[in-house]
Amino acid sequence: MAPTELPPPLPSKKRRIGVMTSGGDAPGMNGAVRAVVRMSIAQNCEVYAIYEGYEGLVQGGDMIKEMGWDDVRGFLSEGGTLIGTARCKSFMERPGRLIAAKNMIVKGIDALIICGGDGSLTGADKFRKEWPGLLEELIQKQELTEEQVEPFKHLNIVGLVGSIDNDLSMTDATIGCYSSLGRICESVDYIDATAFSHQRAFVIEVMGRHCGWLALMAGVSCGADFVFLPENPPPLDWEDDMCKIIKKHRELGKRKTIVIVAEGAHDRYLKKISPAHVRDLLTNKLHLDTRITTLGHVQRGGTACAYDRMLSTLQGAEAVKAVLEATPETPSPVICMIENKIVRRPLLEAVKQTHEVAEAIAAKDFDRAMSLRDAEFAEYYQAYQITTAANQPQLLLPEEKRLRVGIIHVGAPAGGMNAATRAAVAYCLARGHTPVALHNGFPGLCRHHDDEPLGSVREVTWLDAESWASKGGSEIGTNRGLPSDDIETVAMCFAKYKIQALFIVGGFEAFTSVSELRKAREHYSAFKIPMVILPATVSNNVPGTEYSIGSDTCLNALIQYCDACRQSASSSRRRVFVIETQGGASGYIATIAGLSVGALAVYTPEEGINIKMLDRDIDHLRETFAKDKGQRNAGKIILRNEKASKTYTTEIIAGMIREEARGRFESRVGVPGHFQQGTTPSPMDRVRAARFGVKSLQHLEKFAGMSKDDIADDPMSAAVIGIKGAKVLFSAMEIVEKKETDWKDRRPKDEFWMGLKEIVDTLSGRSKFLK
Ligand code: ATP
Repeated sequence: MAPTELPPPLPSKKRRIGVMTSGGDAPGMNGAVRAVVRMSIAQNCEVYAIYEGYEGLVQGGDMIKEMGWDDVRGFLSEGGTLIGTARCKSFMERPGRLIAAKNMIVKGIDALIICGGDGSLTGADKFRKEWPGLLEELIQKQELTEEQVEPFKHLNIVGLVGSIDNDLSMTDATIGCYSSLGRICESVDYIDATAFSHQRAFVIEVMGRHCGWLALMAGVSCGADFVFLPENPPPLDWEDDMCKIIKKHRELGKRKTIVIVAEGAHDRYLKKISPAHVRDLLTNKLHLDTRITTLGHVQRGGTACAYDRMLSTLQGAEAVKAVLEATPETPSPVICMIENKIVRRPLLEAVKQTHEVAEAIAAKDFDRAMSLRDAEFAEYYQAYQITTAANQPQLLLPEEKRLRVGIIHVGAPAGGMNAATRAAVAYCLARGHTPVALHNGFPGLCRHHDDEPLGSVREVTWLDAESWASKGGSEIGTNRGLPSDDIETVAMCFAKYKIQALFIVGGFEAFTSVSELRKAREHYSAFKIPMVILPATVSNNVPGTEYSIGSDTCLNALIQYCDACRQSASSSRRRVFVIETQGGASGYIATIAGLSVGALAVYTPEEGINIKMLDRDIDHLRETFAKDKGQRNAGKIILRNEKASKTYTTEIIAGMIREEARGRFESRVGVPGHFQQGTTPSPMDRVRAARFGVKSLQHLEKFAGMSKDDIADDPMSAAVIGIKGAKVLFSAMEIVEKKETDWKDRRPKDEFWMGLKEIVDTLSGRSKFLK
């Protein structure tokens, strides 16, 4: 056979990168494709979409198409994958991969970015390993000549994990898993209401053949009574164990029962645990009116949540960087996320470790299966166990180690505050501590507690807090007032109510409060107690952490608002929305929402706004509208943080755009205001609140039995819990206050997300106008 005719070599020797989505679709895949396409073009590469996964690679021809900048417009707000995905049998076999290799060379592609699950990444890894042999075979069979093959000697593969199951080892989150969890939690929340009304039990089956992440996280988020996970089967006597726990919950007054079963759940002998079996037990042994709900494909559906849009965008951009930095010696990477940090890990190793989980399960080595999941998974499991089952006598501490723990909310409400409190209360009760809610913040505490019908200082029972996992707002009430407003009374109340440890949940005011209490220790011994602040604010501006609970809920509310505006702008054509975000003096919310919705420009307080900037952005708008051919979701969004500029207000910017557009396009203002606090907290805020709540209490507990002076001398006795890079840790307030806090602007001195602004600008095409 005569060798194939290849297209002429590219004059500029531009790299050609292929991007595909493969395996089961996952929300966020479109965001990854958009980021890869635009980042590749911004880096002066050519980029091709391979339609229908490996099927497109094997079929070649029109299934491999060059993508332009505008071809991915509107991708971020679409569910599924717009370039298609398929399960491709022929790629499983070498002959299929041989054709795929030829098609890549014919199209001039030597780098592949694949967004898929572990199957897709296994295939990718095999493809790269076989690549030299495949090229030799193509030459031998005279399908291609040596000269034709020469420039393609090295195949670059980069993996992006797109999978709703979150089943890949070495990453905390896969693209799609939080959207899927969101869908599950939404469904369970609906079911919860009917279960409560009728005092019913529901057994809910969720996806996850070898991975219980969705089941576990749904259990933590929704406060399920029992969960069944493949990698950690229940004890041998699970039937009795489950019935005992549920019976206890009912005796304590709980009106509903939720059991979550992963589809791959089994007992310690690998015998399947089916929802029907669980239902029969609840019906026959506990006489509960029990129903089964199998959530099925709704778990895949819908648009991506804020986190998945951000994750896919950042990972897509990082994948292009990885391609450009790769040398023939570099092992193929997979782009991962550890806590808050995008990292590259060897693809081979990640896939191997993932398979080992399934192997460990098959060998009934469940300890190993759990240990192969990341540390975060085990922590969530522990948080789940400790915060769910009432009455765990084995966890009780001796009398002298038990504390009266004050729990207080300070500042504006934020999603997850209640989930954190529920976890803290449940932890306290499990260990024998006494959880005491200090209602309505410090002013509530000072405003005479004795005058209120129930008092503002109340011990919380398991049942009080039980239903708080999914509740928005603040069940114990929150207030912006600081201890310094009446420090004397605060100290008096702490002494009167024998508060021995303080768990404080809130934003910058909460942070300030702990700082004030710590400093006041000098005068008031009532404050010589351990204190932890769990940052909770939509603004994510608390020093000592890169993530405050509530900020994810806010982002989800904001992108929902932006999507609605974009749709309206798109339908009316030639319209731009200038949307004002919250965030105080921190541009975090505006920037991350900008990444997640593909905003044309983001204005932050850190950067400010000036006339040149606006002039260039209006030029950018003119060009974008001139090119607009009526693509889907083509409405434009500009985000402006509420404090970005005193002069250039949201209305003024919208007015300037209108004026300068001279009728070619128009502008509208959107101010979501308090809508940004969200209604129901996002699953990410709920699970992190539970995990950090438990960790905070574990930290406080370490000080039990110590003298007041020893406590005060220990810098860690007033601490902030937070995520810093790839770690969750406690930082001493005295250090964070001095070294990490910009007190004037009420935000951290170093804001980790500042570098992300450049990605927003690059992917919106704004960067070239800023030069
Ligand atoms: P999900 O997590 O949604 O199941 P996945 O990527 O694991 O996604 P798979 O169906 O396992 O989904 O794999 C997708 C495609 O990847 C397969 O149809 C096949 O073309 C290719 N593939 C999977 N495993 C291999 C393998 N061992 N060798 C070659 N190709 C493979």
